[in-house]
Amino acid sequence: LFIAFEGGDGAGKSTQAARLAAALESQGHTVLRTREPGGTPIGEKLRSLVLDHGNGEIDAHTEALIFAASRAAHAAQVIRPALGRGEIVLTDRYIDSSVAYQGAGRNLGQDNVQSLNQWATSGLQPHLTVLLDVDPRLGRERRTAGQAAEDRLESEADEFHTRIRGAFLDLAAGRPESYLVLPAQLPADDLAARILARVETLLDA
Ligand code: C5P
Repeated sequence: LFIAFEGGDGAGKSTQAARLAAALESQGHTVLRTREPGGTPIGEKLRSLVLDHGNGEIDAHTEALIFAASRAAHAAQVIRPALGRGEIVLTDRYIDSSVAYQGAGRNLGQDNVQSLNQWATSGLQPHLTVLLDVDPRLGRERRTAGQAAEDRLESEADEFHTRIRGAFLDLAAGRPESYLVLPAQLPADDLAARILARVETLLDA
């Protein structure tokens, strides 16, 4: 079972992925938690490359290709092998993040970025995407309060984050059966309970 957590910066993806992993492990499942951009030694280097050269130093096409390269390694070297071993894979970000950030945020075109990433992953799709829908203002407050304060996108206008939010919601609306969309401002306990309930229906199926 392959589950992706998506949403804007400050949505609480990592917190919820950790909680779901703990709940599933306590039920006896083997869970692999991973993240993008990163997840492999090559992917982590690509992650630093992008995150250390923000604010216009990397042009948008280059950025999209680096994220796609990182994702290709992640899909081939981490996700597919774990799924092959019968593990539950939880990833913090996947293709939707590129469609939203590079496609909509950086205006490369969502269809272009979608095709690039389908090619990069040989079409590996999550069974479920949990979209934590965050109001850009709430996301900004959480980012400033937390570890991501030095985030390279901190300086981007709220307008950029509003485009990203819209793109995530459009992706979910296009394939509602494969998405669980939740408002990120719900209490963390509520979010965790709803996510676990949905995943349990998939495990029972
Ligand atoms: O997941 P995390 O918040 O650690 O992502 C690191 C940074 O990379 C974030 O600022 C996010 O906005 C950015 N990002 C991006 N394009 C992606 C994925 C992440 O700009 N496809």
